[in-house]
Amino acid sequence: MKLLTIYAHPADTITNCGGTLARHAEAGDDVTALILTHGGRIHANRYAEEWRKETPDESVVSADLQAIIDHKKHELERAAEIVGIRTLITLDHDDTMATLHEDVIEQIAEHVAREQPDVVICDYPKNPVMTMDAHTAASAMALAGIARAGFYLQNLDGRPETAVKQVFLTSLQVTANDALSHYGMRNDCFIDITPVVDRKIAAMDCFASQGYAGLFARKLIESNNGEMGRLAGVNFAEGFVRLHSETHSLLGITDAARAADPLVRHVEYSRLSLREMFPVARG
Ligand SMILES: [Zn+2]
Repeated sequence: MKLLTIYAHPADTITNCGGTLARHAEAGDDVTALILTHGGRIHANRYAEEWRKETPDESVVSADLQAIIDHKKHELERAAEIVGIRTLITLDHDDTMATLHEDVIEQIAEHVAREQPDVVICDYPKNPVMTMDAHTAASAMALAGIARAGFYLQNLDGRPETAVKQVFLTSLQVTANDALSHYGMRNDCFIDITPVVDRKIAAMDCFASQGYAGLFARKLIESNNGEMGRLAGVNFAEGFVRLHSETHSLLGITDAARAADPLVRHVEYSRLSLREMFPVARG
């Protein structure tokens, strides 16, 4: 199977679905990540913090935009390698991008047509405004790009149409409080990332320049993926909402649902402690 992720910023792919990608890569699937912006301005902690020091490191405070972008790209490349992303495509648009752009939609469509993915993963398109509209804009453009790639015609465009079979929307910030939402978090499928949680931590540890390394990585995975794991009945999970409904010949229940034991679910769920298993390196 071929997977394509489409996200606004360099670290989004890892925080939203890094564990899922690691599992697919391990299963032999082909994973490509398309990242719309260079992320030079977003979470530029390494540079802002240096200015607060009494004797700032000259090489850090004198870094220009290109140097900052290059540094983050290096972090991204290491993280991608850890989770098994085979191809990394960075469009390097400015990360102040807050609205929809026809030319970016066209770029996305071209990459979708070139990659011919079975599955696309992107942000839930209705992130709350406070999580930055860049994510909403990225997802709106991703969905528009997928649709546009579906309308390519060999006669007119010199390339065939692309039929993406499913889009999985990640739900980091989705808290739709409708009657069907479980504790305010609504997903319609979970991936158990417990077997690869070490890789998600290691990949987040790569993003030291934006403060994601160390305690933050462990806390985010413990809390966010831990809460989704609680709902999923495993230690750590990533949650998704499917864009297209699934068609089956019969109503089915999953292996996980068959194996679930409600009596010990909470015990199993609490088994692992990330901070003990993966201590933050001091120094
Ligand atoms: Zn982001």
